[in-house]
Amino acid sequence: MAKSPKNADRRMRPCPICSKLSTPEHYPFCSDRCAKVDLNRWFSEGYTIPVVETDDLEDRED
Ligand SMILES: [Zn+2]
Repeated sequence: MAKSPKNADRRMRPCPICSKLSTPEHYPFCSDRCAKVDLNRWFSEGYTIPVVETDDLEDRED
């Protein structure tokens, strides 16, 4: 009965690396290991985040 979905949802976020439940210590990851994996990804990708930029350019198709 005493559930607070909003709080729970915030804490129970799955690790973006392995999808396990994250821990407060390594949030948003489940462990230090996964946190490092994520960090390595950033480095290997050369800090490039091809997300919204291209989207903006192709948006003028309209
Ligand atoms: Zn993990």
